[in-house]
Amino acid sequence: MMQTIIESQSCDHKMPPWPDIDTVMFDMDGTLLDLHFDNYFWQHFLPRVWSEHKHIELSIAIDELNKMFQDAKGSLNWYCLDFWADKLQLNIAMLKTEVKHKIAIRPNVINLLTNLRRHDKSILLITNAHPKSLQLKLEQTGIGDYFDNIISSHTLRLAKENHGFWAKLEKLEPYNPQRTLLIDDSVSVLQQAAREGIKHLYGIVQPDSQRQPILIEEYPQISDFEHIMPPQHIEESK
Ligand SMILES: [Mg+2]
Repeated sequence: MMQTIIESQSCDHKMPPWPDIDTVMFDMDGTLLDLHFDNYFWQHFLPRVWSEHKHIELSIAIDELNKMFQDAKGSLNWYCLDFWADKLQLNIAMLKTEVKHKIAIRPNVINLLTNLRRHDKSILLITNAHPKSLQLKLEQTGIGDYFDNIISSHTLRLAKENHGFWAKLEKLEPYNPQRTLLIDDSVSVLQQAAREGIKHLYGIVQPDSQRQPILIEEYPQISDFEHIMPPQHIEESK
């Protein structure tokens, strides 16, 4: 029994060293927002639209799209609505609005953001989402109000998992990598941030509420933001 308690605490409840952190960077999809919307859109809704548009079987539509997705993965195109609108000849931004009711904030996000504002942390939203997708999600959720700055990687013309992104970001939005915490559900993003010197890195246990949890070995993972809530008073160490 004791063993179980210790294990669950060590994997789930690692508190960030808040006094050592000035800047908190959040990813959006799969971190602040439930990844279910994106998975649903790209893997269920869009294949149906594509099969009707091309007059092909759904299974063929899925195969065709998956092949195109595979080719674009890891590049900024993967996240680029204009790229997909052009490639598929479909208005992707408009299609997304048709299922926008599925966009949802993950539990305790607003509590954490409110709490961090009270502690005078610099709070940044750093996302690979295309500006149009970002705008739709901010309108739908209202989370935009909590950030000091919101940056889409499209502005920097590099995806967050690409070499040089984090150095380039520093020129646009100065931060001290040694005193920065990044929370992101993508392992490849965390790994790239680590290579570029960001010190405090956290993943997410279950980015999509409708899918199985994922296991990341190198970084602590958050299942509920409640578990990393800073205490009321933080002893600042500068
Ligand atoms: Mg993400």
